[in-house]
Amino acid sequence: MSSSIHPLLSADRPYFKLICGANFTDYAQLAYLSEVYALAGARLIDVAATPEAIRSAREGIRAARERAARLPGPWRLDDERYPVVMTSVTASDDPHCRIAVKTPERCTWACPFCLEACPHEAIDLDLAILDDRCVGCNLCVPACPHDALAMEYRPFAPSLDALWQEGARALELHTGGGDRSELLAWKEPCQEWVKRGGLFALSVNSEQLELPEALTLAHEVIGWFPGTRIILQADGRPISGAKGKASTESALRFAQALIDAKIPAAVQAAGGANDWTGPLAREARIPLAGVGMGSFARSIMKAKIQPPPSDEAVIEDVERARRLVSTVDPAPQT
Ligand code: SF4
Ligand code: SF4
Repeated sequence: MSSSIHPLLSADRPYFKLICGANFTDYAQLAYLSEVYALAGARLIDVAATPEAIRSAREGIRAARERAARLPGPWRLDDERYPVVMTSVTASDDPHCRIAVKTPERCTWACPFCLEACPHEAIDLDLAILDDRCVGCNLCVPACPHDALAMEYRPFAPSLDALWQEGARALELHTGGGDRSELLAWKEPCQEWVKRGGLFALSVNSEQLELPEALTLAHEVIGWFPGTRIILQADGRPISGAKGKASTESALRFAQALIDAKIPAAVQAAGGANDWTGPLAREARIPLAGVGMGSFARSIMKAKIQPPPSDEAVIEDVERARRLVSTVDPAPQT
């Protein structure tokens, strides 16, 4: 088993991770997000556990390198080792692999409440749910007055070998720790991933786990990888994507508590993370290894990808993304 620390975790500054969504399979959009955030300096890009998602992320990164070579711009693609493509696998008690499903006979197909509630353009104008865009945030379910919507677990059952072959080099396991057999089924494949030189992360969320439970679970999983430093994602409010200071506070509190408990892992905050997260972490002197952002990072993209956006439109998105990345990860020269 490797005893080295991944370069990402021995760098002298926190990293920014783009979270595309464990269930997000709009591959064209995923490639665009990967391109923009690669140019903006993200050092991890976390995508669904499908070969197509890995391929799309890598296509986006390749497009970023081509664009950076072709155009002067505000690029931060400063280290050829990054971004690393990460993929997220889940156990059934994790909210990241759920999507909204509709009971058609209960739906009026007329009222706008679900459409208005969805911040992810995952419900079309015919009021159908777009499975590839739904990230499982659950905002539409309580908005429906006819009880026509519910959340359903839709896991991918990936072959980790296939994901590695496509080029994923980091793996994140999400679990609420509830189902022991499911958790233990991941042990050997995850160990194999690390043996190959892959980076490993465990994501625990504070909505499902009290601190003592989270610590017990984390210590158990850390014990799968003796001598190897892993990432522990402190997920405050999973898939909330909310704006403002309050949204990020639970992730920072959770991360601080894990660090105070001297958990032997690199602690990264996520879940409600936004442009406040980095500044608040610095102010509170929370030594985060990095910050992962999903809904908020996706929401600041403005360019439409069909037809392909102009260079100017991409540069504007990169500028927005770069400002966001810089709230977490100062540029190497600054
Ligand atoms: S709010 Fe409910 S009933 Fe109305 S269109 Fe949406 S799913 Fe159908
Ligand atoms: S509101 Fe959330 S759960 Fe509902 S369709 Fe949109 S992304 Fe999916």
